[in-house]
Amino acid sequence: MLAISSAKGTILYDEEGKEYVDGISSWYTCMYGHCNPYILKKVSAQMQKLDQVVFSGFTHEPAVKLSEELIKILPVNQEKLFFSDNGSTATEIGIKMALQYHFNKGEKRNVLLAFDEAFHGDTFGAMSVSGLSVYNGPFEDFFIEVKRIPVPTPENIEDVLEILKDRLKNSSVAGFIYEPLVQGAAAMKMHCPVGLNMILSLLKEHNVLTIADEVMTGFGKTGKFFASDHIETKPDVICLSKALTAGLLPMGLTTCTQDVYSAFYSDEMAKGLFHGHTYTANPLACTAALAALELLQTDEVQDNIENIIQWHKQFNESIKNHPKIAATRQLGVIYALDLNVKMERYGNLRDKLFKHFMDNGVFLRPLGNTIYILAPFTTTKKEMEQIYSAVKSAIEMI
Ligand SMILES: *Cc1c(COP(=O)(O)O)cnc(C)c1O
Repeated sequence: MLAISSAKGTILYDEEGKEYVDGISSWYTCMYGHCNPYILKKVSAQMQKLDQVVFSGFTHEPAVKLSEELIKILPVNQEKLFFSDNGSTATEIGIKMALQYHFNKGEKRNVLLAFDEAFHGDTFGAMSVSGLSVYNGPFEDFFIEVKRIPVPTPENIEDVLEILKDRLKNSSVAGFIYEPLVQGAAAMKMHCPVGLNMILSLLKEHNVLTIADEVMTGFGKTGKFFASDHIETKPDVICLSKALTAGLLPMGLTTCTQDVYSAFYSDEMAKGLFHGHTYTANPLACTAALAALELLQTDEVQDNIENIIQWHKQFNESIKNHPKIAATRQLGVIYALDLNVKMERYGNLRDKLFKHFMDNGVFLRPLGNTIYILAPFTTTKKEMEQIYSAVKSAIEMI
């Protein structure tokens, strides 16, 4: 276990003062660099004014402003926001929205639909829809009922649609939760927007609520503000966290359409969505999110996102035909390559790779035989080259 004592920009420092380029933005959060001065300044000022207040019966300026600013860049059909405090709760709330949406309309729908190898978090509803069983073994008996479909590719889409139709037969599917275009925990597995669009439009015909889990993909990583911006059919619900607050404080958001909101809006108490965490919409977290949203929309950040996309493309050209590489893929600033070797998800070779990266001053976390890069938007060319060079030497080493 290595103790990290400080961080600045793209760099983590350990207790000996050794530097590591944070090649995965500390799990896709610190996209504007660690201890970003603009975000720190905004949050420090907010801290002097209002630290925390109950978000039930009260509201506050940071939450209102954040809602207004976020609505401007979310897919146009998203109109309402539900605050919580991490990514798992954001998806948990999405799942509850889907189940209660039909319940409130007097329809019993108790099944959820999800992709193979999905990851949606560690609370019970989120675990139920997650398909990576390494994490879930002891709890599987207690899960919500879930049906699965494979992720779409140009080759399998007709089969996937047939499987989907079969899943929907005589069925009581309430909602479909999916990581749009990139499945992070499945080792940055990517699927095709055209196929996903066909799935979503078929589900809309069956009045199945669609829930985009953009906890990982949100806020510019795919080259657009949201992965859903690449897809014609927009989701009914979107889950956000991680880069939302730029790594400074935990927060979750579940956004939805007016139609979803209306199904809960009633004089009958029991029709409300009862889900409130103590730290829901914490004013400091909202302020961090607002500052992050401002940064995301600056020319400086947008230009460097474009730079990173080009650097990845060039790196990919230089490496993709290497005999030790089985496949490569990229969407926006997310780059991944699969090694041509069999590996345990958490086995010896993976540990050896991890150590090699750290010895070379780069923090990357290989998953199975996949090495992926998801560095902050503020990464310089020199820092990115340090990452590329560590990846190249790792490939030569294995
Ligand atoms: C990280 C992640 C979550 C869970 O978020 P936590 O804040 O770790 O609970 C859910 N969905 C996706 C796609 C994620 O990447």
